[in-house]
Amino acid sequence: MKSWWVRRRRHDPERNAAEYVSGELPRRAIRWFEAHLLGCEECWHEVMLGRVGRAMAEEAREPLTRGLRDRVRAHVQVSGSAGHPRER
Ligand SMILES: [Zn+2]
Repeated sequence: MKSWWVRRRRHDPERNAAEYVSGELPRRAIRWFEAHLLGCEECWHEVMLGRVGRAMAEEAREPLTRGLRDRVRAHVQVSGSAGHPRER
């Protein structure tokens, strides 16, 4: 069941972030989640945690979505740290 992004109100930071980082989300869900990330510290934090775990996992298997990681990395570069952009 991956319809959380249709409702747009509920979120499950841990699961949403895991799916986002692993590239499991459909394109429009990714778009929604990226917009959501900018306003949601919980999800942002989970994505950051997920990226660390994923970086380790990538040593064992190929990355699924390089573009996805680049976009997340771009967010991090904009903020200048792993902190949430809103905090700066
Ligand atoms: Zn959220």
